[in-house]
Amino acid sequence: MEKIKTSVIGSYPVDIEIINHIKGYFNQKNVTWDKYIKSAVKDMVNSGIEIVSDGQTRDPFVNIFTRKLKGCRIRDRTEIIGRVEYDGPITIDDQKYVKNLIPKNKHLIGLITGPYTLTNSCVNLFYKDEKELAFDFANALKQEAQLLQKYVDILSIDEPFFSMGIPDYCKELINTVINGLSCPIRLHACGDVSNVIPELLELPVDILSHEFKASPMLFDAFKQYNITKNICLGSVRSDKSNIEPVDEIVTHIKKGIDIFGDRITQLAPDCGQKMLPRNVAFQKLKNLVKAGEIINGR
Ligand SMILES: [Zn+2]
Repeated sequence: MEKIKTSVIGSYPVDIEIINHIKGYFNQKNVTWDKYIKSAVKDMVNSGIEIVSDGQTRDPFVNIFTRKLKGCRIRDRTEIIGRVEYDGPITIDDQKYVKNLIPKNKHLIGLITGPYTLTNSCVNLFYKDEKELAFDFANALKQEAQLLQKYVDILSIDEPFFSMGIPDYCKELINTVINGLSCPIRLHACGDVSNVIPELLELPVDILSHEFKASPMLFDAFKQYNITKNICLGSVRSDKSNIEPVDEIVTHIKKGIDIFGDRITQLAPDCGQKMLPRNVAFQKLKNLVKAGEIINGR
């Protein structure tokens, strides 16, 4: 049986120095941000996680993209005020930086907030048809994804809005972003996705990532289907500060293996960890890694 790898879902908390943070936020200077990216990546590497991310410390996961796309204006929520188009690299510099930071035996996951989630997170003041906006986002993200795959080992498309329902064009939408890519693709959708499992299984992606720890009813929901995708099993909560003991995580993973068998290829927190205190996030990753080692040693 192939060894299960430990991974993360996007964001990671950092200890922000407020003054520098504000200066950095307005300047968007790399020199200020490198420090935060470095601290997030260092924690992930030190915890023993095998597939690390850049920690998405720079901006919330919607703004990271909309800040650098044409047609978007950053307000409390991003406003769409013109045609959405790619305007040059968005996350590439950060990923290059991380790639040079991590030991050779670690893998890097690139993070792309999905077109459906971007569409639903923005205030649309321009498009008559929401579907058209979604596909313009998808075409812009496609260009980012094509550049990104040169630096990352795997790509995650994050679509938390899929838990609210999946549009009938979602397969075509996701395909627009990832068509022609050669790296494995993970689709992350947190929340209760039990009503959209058939649609998720139809998506042209390699790995499905869901929050099985906070929503254990997903086990029963998935059990009813023939699982044709690999699974990234959410195994520690991202919304609660209590640190799950190793044996509790092992029991959870075993429950997952009972249902998914060797389809489980990754273990991760349920979602991004940004809302947790840094020491809590770190300890959760460490326990996740220990649990993974126990499972792999079986
Ligand atoms: Zn999530």
